[in-house]
Amino acid sequence: MSPVYSLVVPIYNEEAVLPLLLRRLDALMDALDAPAEAILVDDGSADASPIVLEAKARGDSRYRFIRLSRNFGHQVAITTGMARAAGRAVIVMDADLQDPPEVVLDMVAKWKEGVQVVYAERLTREGESRFKRMTADLFYRLLGGLSEVDIPRNVGDFRLVDRQALDAFLAMPERDRFVRGMFAWIGFRQAVVKFHRPPRAAGETKYSLAKMLRLAASGVVSFSDAPLRLALWAGLAISSLAILYGLWVIAMWTMNADFARGWSSIAVLVTFLGGANMLMTGVLGVYVGRIYSEVKRRPLYVVEREAGFAAPAAESAGRGEAAARRA
Ligand code: UDP
Ligand code: MG
Repeated sequence: MSPVYSLVVPIYNEEAVLPLLLRRLDALMDALDAPAEAILVDDGSADASPIVLEAKARGDSRYRFIRLSRNFGHQVAITTGMARAAGRAVIVMDADLQDPPEVVLDMVAKWKEGVQVVYAERLTREGESRFKRMTADLFYRLLGGLSEVDIPRNVGDFRLVDRQALDAFLAMPERDRFVRGMFAWIGFRQAVVKFHRPPRAAGETKYSLAKMLRLAASGVVSFSDAPLRLALWAGLAISSLAILYGLWVIAMWTMNADFARGWSSIAVLVTFLGGANMLMTGVLGVYVGRIYSEVKRRPLYVVEREAGFAAPAAESAGRGEAAARRA
C-alpha cells in the first residue's frame, strides 16, 4: 500500500534523541488518518545513529533509511529525503522534537482544505540562546528587505508540502539549496500553522555558528542580487562627490588659493576607494563562486547505503532525481 504521508527527518549525530524520536514517530503515524512512511536521512553521522536507524528500517516496514556518504548539511539532507518520498503530502521535521509531531496533525488539516504548502511559524523559541534569537531575527529582516520573494519570518524547515509543490521543488536544479526560500518562490496556496517551539529533547544543536553563517549567506546570495547592485549605487555616489570636489578645486584655482595642504584628505580617499574596490571584488567573487559550483554540476549528494525502500533510486543522485526524471 503506497503511503499518503511521508515524514522526512534529517539526522546528524542524534543518537541521544533517537529512542524518543522513533517512539514519537510511531505514535504520529498511528494518529494519522492514512498510511504513512518515515524517511530517516542520516547526514553522515559519526555516532551510532545510522546503526539504530537502519535496524529500525529493516524491522518496521513503515520506515526507510538513507545514509549519505558524508555530512552534506541539513538543507541537502532534507532535499534527499524529499526526493525519495512516495507520499502525496510530505512533511519535513527535525529529529530533536523541536518540531512537535502534534503540529503535523494541524498541518494535515490545512492540507485537506486544499493548501499546497503549510509551514509552521514559531511563536516562541524556548531554550535557544538570546544570541541565536537575535541573529535569526536580524537575518530575516535583512533577507526580507533584499529578496524579491517574500520569505516568511520565524519559519524554519518544518513544513508540509503537497505532491505538486514538491515536484516543482525537485525540478529546481540549483546546488545551493536554501529550502525555505525555494518554497516561498514556488508559490501555490500557502498557509501557516503556529506553534510554540520547545527546547531540544536531548543532545546539542548540530548547527554550528559556521553552518548558520553559511546558511545565511546562501539565503542572501540565492535570493537577492542586491549586493551586486551595491557597487552601482556606491560608484554613482562616489563619482558625484568627486565631481563636486573637482568643481570646488577649479573654483579655488581660479581664485589663486594656496594648494599645499590636503595630503591627508588624499590619503583618506585613496584608502577608502581601495577598500571599497576590494569589497566589491569580494562580493563579485561570492557570486562567481556560486556560479562555478553550479556549472560543475556535481551531484547534490552521494548515498552510501539505504534500507526499507521498495526499489533503489533510479539513478545515483546524478544531476538530482528531478533531472533524472525529466530526462
Ligand atoms: N542536521 C543535519 N545535518 C547537519 C546539521 C543538522 O541533518 O549538518 C539535522 C539535525 O540532526 C536536526 C536538524 O538538522 O534534525 C536541525 O538541527 P538542529 O536541531 O541541531 O538545529 P537547531 O534547531 O539548533 O537550529
Ligand atoms: Mg533543533
